[in-house]
Amino acid sequence: MQFSDFSLDKRLLTSLEHMGIDKPTEIQEQSIPVGLSGKDLMASSKTGSGKTLAFLLPAMQRIISTKALSKRDPRVLILLPTRELATQVYSQLRLLVANTQYKALKILGGENFNDQAKALARDPHIVVATPGRLADHLKQRHLYLNGLELLILDEADRMLDLGFAEQLRAINQAADHKRRQTLMFSATLDHGEINEIAAELLKEPVHVSIGASNVENQDITQKVYLCDNLGHKEKLLLTLLKQEQHKQVIIFTATRSDTDRLATKLADEGFTTASLSGELKQSARNQIMDQFSRGQQQILVTTDVASRGLDLLNVSLVINFDMPKLAEEYIHRIGRTARAGAKGDAISLVGPKDWDNFKQVQLFLRRTFELSEIAGLKPKFSGLKAKPKGKPATAKKAAQNKTRPAKPKSTTKTKDNRDKRFITGVDIGDAPMLRKPKSTLQDTPEE
Ligand code: ADP
Ligand code: MG
Repeated sequence: MQFSDFSLDKRLLTSLEHMGIDKPTEIQEQSIPVGLSGKDLMASSKTGSGKTLAFLLPAMQRIISTKALSKRDPRVLILLPTRELATQVYSQLRLLVANTQYKALKILGGENFNDQAKALARDPHIVVATPGRLADHLKQRHLYLNGLELLILDEADRMLDLGFAEQLRAINQAADHKRRQTLMFSATLDHGEINEIAAELLKEPVHVSIGASNVENQDITQKVYLCDNLGHKEKLLLTLLKQEQHKQVIIFTATRSDTDRLATKLADEGFTTASLSGELKQSARNQIMDQFSRGQQQILVTTDVASRGLDLLNVSLVINFDMPKLAEEYIHRIGRTARAGAKGDAISLVGPKDWDNFKQVQLFLRRTFELSEIAGLKPKFSGLKAKPKGKPATAKKAAQNKTRPAKPKSTTKTKDNRDKRFITGVDIGDAPMLRKPKSTLQDTPEE
């Protein structure tokens, strides 16, 4: 199958050609027709499988080939959990809009609010945004979503993890009309809250799921080294980095202070190194990511802030200097290598503190890793025994269950009464505008 088999505008096909892309990936093959049909979609596939174009192409096609419902409101809104991801999607989008007369705008947390308000007043057709900041603008009435035709949630599970459910609901409410289409993408659908929010935001969605979310990318060779302590870890790390020639390397650490300390250490050893953590100012983060993606440094040391979705084509090695707390995060971290069909390596350094998290990763992946060793740096540590399932833990859990407050009754509309509103033929423009400030909206800083 070729992209030209979809009914896509010539200009989009030309842009794809310029990107050197001709054959759709599996998720694209299955999602693009749904996107074009106007139906709602809930889709998942492993990282690096091309989800971005799976929603950008139908979005662009819609804008090009249909008349806008409103001249002023954005036609397409794409929401992403982090500023880095939004920036990345925006740069792919720019390549697609370049050939057309349509305006795209990026609205991120951490950037100047008034400048964004001015840019919104210029009526962009497509807005790529992080949910907290977009909800703030909505509250300030810097934009209306009554004319929104397509709402896209990328990395939906991550947005929920970051606590954006309320903002997503507010945005949904502001664009709640009959002709709105919603596409929801995620690397995993094994997420409690995701089905809840999907039931509220999507109407009879088509489900597309390519591979299980815990299926590992076969192009990534994974190795695990046991370590006795921090000093041992650092020695192993340096040996591994010097052993082989790597293109670019991402090293994940547990905390920001580890990130900075390790980056300094690696720089002292002569590696060109950048470090990135969520606490940095947006402009600094942009600059770091930009430089790293252009190959100015070989190594990026970071916390999980960079583990989702980032598409860095030259990363050939990912190192878990510390194991992630959430097993699922492991898949996202190692998914930073072997992008777009390339090969990659992933190395995990597992010390006593990492042991529980490491076991969780093995459980999640349903596999047991063989352990690797380096001569001269063999560990004494050989894993911890499983904790006996004693009474205290269970008793504590029972107590927790007892004291947990009852879940408040859901106040969200059921699908039934939503449908009823439209029996009268009410359409675009009649959805309740967010004229009243919503007390539920909060200024939540994006990650
Ligand atoms: P995901 O969102 O699923 O993690 P991305 O959309 O970030 O994946 O895509 C990963 C990489 O694959 C990007 O560099 C993108 O340009 C590339 N890519 C996307 N679609 C194709 C395709 N059909 N053929 C070749 N490369 C592609
Ligand atoms: Mg993605």
